[in-house]
Amino acid sequence: MSPLERIIREIIEAQGGISLAAYMELALQHPAHGYYRIANPIGRDGDFITAPEISQMFGEMLGVWCAETWRAMGKPAAFALVEFGAGRGTMMRDILRATSRVGGFHEAVNLYLVESSEVLRAAQRDILQDAHPHFISALTDIPPMPTLVVANEFFDALPVRQFEKTFQGWAERMVVVENDALVLAPRLLDAAEMNLVPPALHDATPNTIFEFCPKAQNIIHAIAQHIVKHHGAMLAVDYGYTATTGNATIQAVANHAYADIFSNIGETDLTAHVDFAALATAARLAGAETLPLVGQGEFLRNLGIKLRADALKKNAAPAQAAEIEIALHRLTSDAEMGVLFKMLEIKG
Ligand code: SAH
Repeated sequence: MSPLERIIREIIEAQGGISLAAYMELALQHPAHGYYRIANPIGRDGDFITAPEISQMFGEMLGVWCAETWRAMGKPAAFALVEFGAGRGTMMRDILRATSRVGGFHEAVNLYLVESSEVLRAAQRDILQDAHPHFISALTDIPPMPTLVVANEFFDALPVRQFEKTFQGWAERMVVVENDALVLAPRLLDAAEMNLVPPALHDATPNTIFEFCPKAQNIIHAIAQHIVKHHGAMLAVDYGYTATTGNATIQAVANHAYADIFSNIGETDLTAHVDFAALATAARLAGAETLPLVGQGEFLRNLGIKLRADALKKNAAPAQAAEIEIALHRLTSDAEMGVLFKMLEIKG
């Protein structure tokens, strides 16, 4: 048993059971043993590979979005560019390179990064040193100025609570120890907690699941408030759904394969699909405007990724050109990341 599993079992013993969100938070963020605190999980040698690690074209297209949005804001002479969960810093490096010839952009930009992992902070500091990044824990840490926020595969890493309709009524799925194993067990909701379940689901059939991510909603709400107050926009990219699915979406991934959510705790990535409708609602409640959700494929095509791929291929050897074509397909085709991944854009 890993040291982290021992710690989690002690907490469960003391409390009689913990929510899935509390479990996810410990597994991912425990200061000494959490998955995101100790390892470098991203990339071909890690557990999963993300869009910016597939191809430089992804970050470059986000650079086009940043430049266009900055222009549309009237080219403020000083603005904050903030990335939540920047991983190895690859996407921000590509954004900055793609905007390097946008007149005035680099003179105006102030770079801020929100990152919980010490290992990844070091990687980001290293790869982005020329842009002098500041590490912050929330947007309240930056001076008042127009703000652009980007995030790729950040919101799926935040802990979710899971509710289940049982024959006795709605219950929260708790992590408990039974027969010396970690398992999920339902705990009936009280009347106050029922407010967390959308009214439309109160009479759902047994086995319906409702997942929600309080932390994601709080963070989006804070971002929306910030950009409403100081002007700005956010682009969040993630996999997820547009309306409540009624299914559990928590998944565990290690070494590019699915795993059990209770196995190798601290060495396995845990994520959940993002509920984009809930995030958009949280943004609107803070007074921000939300744009219609767009699939990653459509979004990247609209920004001109095909032209960029053609330009890169022109200067590439045949083998490299084939790789560029494969990357383009992975990022944009409906069967790969083009539809499952979506872009949520909000404006202040
Ligand atoms: N955007 C990167 C990394 C995605 S993985 C890419 O596309 O490659 C998720 C990132 O979010 C990691 O950098 C992880 O350390 C960070 N992260 C996860 N939970 C976080 C939290 N609660 N606060 C800050 N950063 C977090």
